[in-house]
Order: sequence, then structure tokens, then C-alpha cells
Amino acid sequence: MRNSSMLKRSEALVEARRCLGCFESPCTQACPAHVDIPGFIKRLREDNVDGAGDLIYESCPLSYVCGLACPTPDLCEGACTLNKLGQTPIRIGALQAYVASNYELLENYDDNGKRKAIAVIGAGPSGLGCAIQLRRMGFEVEVFEKSNSIGGLVDRVIPSYRLPSTAVTQDVNRLKEAGIKFHLRVEIDEENARILLEDFNAIFIGTGLSVDKEYRVEGMDREAEGILSALGYLEHARKYEEGRADLPQLGNQVIVIGGGNVALDAAILAKRLGSEQVIVLYRRSRDEMPGWESEYLEAARLGVEFRWLSSVNAVTIKKKKLQSVTVQRMKFTQNKKGGRRWVERNEAVPTYQLSCDSLIYALGQELDSSVADYFGVETLDKQRIQVDHSSFQTNVPKIFAAGEAVSGGSTIVNSMSQGMAAGRSIGRWLLEG
Ligand SMILES: Cc1cc2nc3c(=O)[nH]c(=O)nc-3n(C[C@H](O)[C@H](O)[C@H](O)COP(=O)(O)OP(=O)(O)OC[C@H]3O[C@@H](n4cnc5c(N)ncnc54)[C@H](O)[C@@H]3O)c2cc1C
Ligand code: SF4
Repeated sequence: MRNSSMLKRSEALVEARRCLGCFESPCTQACPAHVDIPGFIKRLREDNVDGAGDLIYESCPLSYVCGLACPTPDLCEGACTLNKLGQTPIRIGALQAYVASNYELLENYDDNGKRKAIAVIGAGPSGLGCAIQLRRMGFEVEVFEKSNSIGGLVDRVIPSYRLPSTAVTQDVNRLKEAGIKFHLRVEIDEENARILLEDFNAIFIGTGLSVDKEYRVEGMDREAEGILSALGYLEHARKYEEGRADLPQLGNQVIVIGGGNVALDAAILAKRLGSEQVIVLYRRSRDEMPGWESEYLEAARLGVEFRWLSSVNAVTIKKKKLQSVTVQRMKFTQNKKGGRRWVERNEAVPTYQLSCDSLIYALGQELDSSVADYFGVETLDKQRIQVDHSSFQTNVPKIFAAGEAVSGGSTIVNSMSQGMAAGRSIGRWLLEG
């Protein structure tokens, strides 16, 4: 599992003393937010937690969330010089979470006198990153969010055992103190889009990827009992873990389809919440699986079974209830797509039936291009919003976009950092215009 364990003060100080304070810190370079890691660790060593917190917050306003949920082995900790010396890297994420949970913010947000207001659509990491950056430049910012909470996917679907809501709430409270106005349960539809265009000097789109990829297979009925999308299941499970919903009823035999982090999160949660047999079916092999190694190891530790080169080609549903799936074996072809080996059905091996109570499909999310369409913003085949990558500006000059709606899938820290860069760009555009 990633760095979800919280450090005590004594442990944090011991860990901070291990830092070599490298001059050209490779950890900072590997962090998408470019947090001054040796700098904050030095302040922490000097017991200046508020100073350490300010330094992190400057580059990473979602500092508590990122400290707990960043894939640190692939980012800052993976680049730590101690790895090369054969030692365990500094637990940078855990130190960041320790600081973020213990410091008082001292930041001023003075009005810049320009009386220009920006509308941010979506309160996920990209929208929040954009909003705080614009507040720092003294602009008025209003965030419009269709759900009833702030944080986007972070607050709704990431399992709370690795990202508790207290961390999200603490980061969000700091953003509220910055004077960002939040309008919850406001979906930007065609009519609202017209109003935003009239009322605001610039608009930022940070709507992420909100549509589940359609799962087409023989016999499929998405309304049948036992058929669940991974995002729907994770959202329900998070509410349950926070005492806001009943236990999701998956039954004892659960099939999860997919090989990304969302599939792994769903499989881990199904096991943690009591299902006896959880089987992940993935079309390729473990080498191609896009999910993080730490998530895979956690799933395997809990007893999740993995069947490689396997996919489902039919489901059997009786009286609106799932009964079983038909598993098709796959084989590698000579072709490669996106650097990964491609697969096709292996007709030489017979298909087989697998009884199950639930089938959770995690085939990825897609862009809901309607917001872009309302504004006349161009997309790449309705899959991503098209922007100039140096300015995050779309083809409509007063509209900017970033986060997963532009990248097509990423991490919290990347989406937040992109949103911040877009915020700086919007600010410059407004000040110059
Ligand atoms: C199960 C799961 C686990 C993950 N775990 C991790 C992890 O451990 N670490 C990590 O770094 N990343 C993780 N990620 C990825 C991370 O959550 C995303 O990279 C990040 O949330 C993307 O930010 P965003 O702002 O682009 O979009 P989102 O977080 O999707 O936010 C977009 C917001 O826009 C709102 N919106 C959409 N349309 C409208 C509209 N028309 N009007 C108003 N509001 C609208 C949505 O309701 C949403 O709140 C995970 C993702 C998933 C699905
Ligand atoms: S923001 Fe994430 S990647 Fe950057 S230093 Fe903090 S934990 Fe590491």
C-alpha cells in the first residue's frame, strides 16, 4: 500500500534527519508540483512545522491529500538519492502528510483591484489548483460543481482507508479560507454556459472524465442486479466507510474486469468489505497491467485472484440477476499498441463459465464533451479538450482547460499542477488584455 500511515512527531523528526539535503534535489525535480522537498524537510528538522507547511502549500495546495495519495515510488521517493546508496528512500509523502495535518496557514489574498472574475467549472484537483492560483493573483474566483462536495474524484471514489475524508476536508478548508466562492449542485448546462460567458471575464473547464466507458458484451444488461461500474461501486463503498450508506451487497463471488488502479481499488475493497472470492480478469499479462505495483501487491496480499490473458465475452442474467460470466482466453499477437503488446481471442482454448454474484467493470472513463460543446470549444474526437499546451487556452480565447479533461487520465498532483499552470496563464492573459 502507498504512504497511508500517519507519522507521529518523533517518527517524523527521525525520518527528516535522514534527508541528505541534496543540492540539485532529484526528488523535487521528479515531483510534478516541484515541492521544495529538502527545504520543507530542513524546516521540519528545525521544528518549524508552520514554515514547512507554507513551503509545501506554495507549490501543492492539496498538500495533505497528495502526501497520502501520490504514487510516491514513481515520483519523489523513486528519485531519492538514498535509493542509489542502497538505502530506503525518505518517506516524503508521509512527511508531507504529517506537516499538512499539523500546520497553520499564513497566506494573504489581497484584491488586485482589477475587478475581474473567473468561473471555474469542476471542483476537482485541476479546478481547485486553478482557483487558488488565481486568488493568489488577486482575482475573484467562483467554482461551479455539479455534485454536492468539493474535491472531485478525490472526495468521492478514492477509498477512504487510503485517503480519509479528514485529509480532503482539511485541504478544502484552507482553500475556502482563501476566499474562493463555491457553488455546489450547480451543473453547467447550455443555459448556465451562456450565463457564465456573459458574467465572467474568463472560464476554466476542469470537468475531468466523468463517463464510464460503455461495456458491451453478449447478454449485458447494465440495470441487472450484480452488474456494477467500478466508479459507482467505489462511490457507494466510500459512503459506507464514512457511515453515510449501507454496505454495498456484492455477494461472495465477485469478478472485476480491468487492470488499472480503479479495478485494483474495487477488488481490494470488495475483499476488505467481506466478499470471499474476488477474481480480477485482465486481457493482458501482469507486465502490461497499468495499475500501480503497490496496489497489485496489496490486492494479492488480501487474497485477490488474478487471471491473466482473460476477458469476458458473455454474461448470463436470469430474472434481472447476474448468474455467471463466460471467460474467453486471449493470446498475444505480434502487434504493439501504445508500447504494449496487443492481444486477440485465443480460439484454440475453450471458453468456460464462472459463477458469480457480482461483476464490476473498470474499463476506464471518458470525457463528457457536452460542456466543451456548449462553449464551442474544440475537442480531439470528443475524447479530450484541445488546448495550447503552453497556455492551456482553448480555441475560444476566454476559455481555458486542464486536468484529466485535457490529459485523458492522470494523478491528483498532475491535475492540480496543470490547473495551477492554467490559473497563472489566465491571470497573465487578463492582466495583459
Ligand atoms: C478509483 C480512483 C482512484 C484514484 N486514486 C488515485 C490516487 O491514489 N492517487 C492519485 O494521484 N490519483 C488517483 N486517481 C486519479 C485522480 O483522482 C484524478 O487524476 C483527479 O481527480 C483528476 O482531477 P480533475 O480535476 O481533472 O477531475 P475530477 O477529479 O474528475 O473533477 C472534475 C469535477 O468536475 C465536476 N463536473 C463535471 N462536469 C460538470 C459540469 N457540467 N458542471 C459542474 N461540474 C462538473 C465533477 O463532478 C467533478 O467534481 C484515482 C482515480 C480513481 C477513479
Ligand atoms: S506532491 Fe506528491 S510527488 Fe510531490 S513531493 Fe509531495 S508526495 Fe511527493
